[in-house]
Amino acid sequence: MDYDIAIVGGGLVGLALARALAATSHRIVLIEQGPIDVTTPKSIDRPLTLAPSSQYCLNQLGVWPTIEDAVIPIRTIHVSRQYLPIHTLLTASAFQRQALGYVIPAGVLQQVLQHAAHEQANLTVLSSCHIQSIDVKQDHSQLIYQSSKGIQQLRVSLVVAADGSQSTVRTQLRIPVQQYDDQHWAMVGTLQLQRSHRYVAYERFLKHSILALLPYAKQRMGLVWCMTKSQWQKIEALDSTAVLTQLQKSLGYRLGRVLAVEGIQAWPLTAIHAQSCIGPRAVLIGNAAHTLYPVAAQGLNLGLRDVLVLADQLKQWSASADVVPLLNRYQQLRAPDHQQIRRLITSLLRLYGRPFPMQRMIQCGAMILFDQVDYCRQRLGRCAMGLAHLPI
Ligand SMILES: Cc1cc2nc3c(=O)[nH]c(=O)nc-3n(C[C@H](O)[C@H](O)[C@H](O)COP(=O)(O)OP(=O)(O)OC[C@H]3O[C@@H](n4cnc5c(N)ncnc54)[C@H](O)[C@@H]3O)c2cc1C
Repeated sequence: MDYDIAIVGGGLVGLALARALAATSHRIVLIEQGPIDVTTPKSIDRPLTLAPSSQYCLNQLGVWPTIEDAVIPIRTIHVSRQYLPIHTLLTASAFQRQALGYVIPAGVLQQVLQHAAHEQANLTVLSSCHIQSIDVKQDHSQLIYQSSKGIQQLRVSLVVAADGSQSTVRTQLRIPVQQYDDQHWAMVGTLQLQRSHRYVAYERFLKHSILALLPYAKQRMGLVWCMTKSQWQKIEALDSTAVLTQLQKSLGYRLGRVLAVEGIQAWPLTAIHAQSCIGPRAVLIGNAAHTLYPVAAQGLNLGLRDVLVLADQLKQWSASADVVPLLNRYQQLRAPDHQQIRRLITSLLRLYGRPFPMQRMIQCGAMILFDQVDYCRQRLGRCAMGLAHLPI
């Protein structure tokens, strides 16, 4: 056998799993189709919200102390609906926490994890190598990949698919998916404000779009705006002053004046759920198992909880032992969390994202419920913070 475990995909989730297995005796290979370059962080300004569950995970991985100075705490979340006179506030103090979550530029986290991967003794990193196919045998799996040296192969006991939404591993193993593609796009960028954000994050439901603002360093905020494709096409055609006016109109003035919007990029959105997150000698984690709309900033947070649970199972596993009990146990342990987060996002989209009769009345009722009833607020908050499925 060449390796005990192959991690396919060197995104944040694949890298985090590699790191979580650093103290084991497993021989691990991480295969990434792109370069793994520790000097040039990619997408440095895309804001990522790390829930307290991710803080816990990154602490367990020994990564948190390295990024602690780069994260910005979220002390309050302000949820509102355009044209409704009420809003809901979630505060860290109501949950006896210092922060409801933390914002970090994605590139910073990626760079720290890439650096750790290059230093890890039991890990071989194969970058610029694209997995093409998998042949599952009785006692191992054969991975065929394309590298600069041509087509190569290696034999492993277990394959972990961390290869994202369009997972090759998932396709090769014929694991069916449910896919929802209703032509939405996410626009991201950075806002320059006239005054401080006071560590408040905003989730604002507009008529046909959802806008999230996340506190960044100084008087800046990260913007994630999920909208229909036609809305994005209209915004894309505007100059920066017109985009600014449009944003200010959608936000109102609770944040003061927005002085500039910079670094606009956009991604098409899709939601994908693998019908099983295990396959023959394989397990799917992160976006390969569940790609979510980023309306509640949960994708990576859920992926990092996959990492914690899988690493825990793998620490107790020997590569010569049967892999099936491990896979079944993993699937059983992760199902409740996956289902709960899917329900949270579906409810948010149903409640605020799609027009239906009496919509305003129902939205108003929901806001009052979450604002006034502590039990509802606590449940929503614990779910969004990922605390329901962790020993913290
Ligand atoms: C606009 C936006 C905002 C978001 N904000 C948040 C947020 O605030 N908080 C949060 O928790 N989540 C957020 N998310 C979701 C989060 O970014 C993802 O869930 C997370 O980054 C997924 O990581 P991953 O490693 O599973 O997948 P990916 O990042 O897609 O990594 C997969 C890796 O696999 C590699 N790969 C693919 N195929 C192959 C192959 N055949 N061979 C070798 N390598 C391969 C790819 O090159 C890639 O590096 C957001 C998403 C979007 C779109």
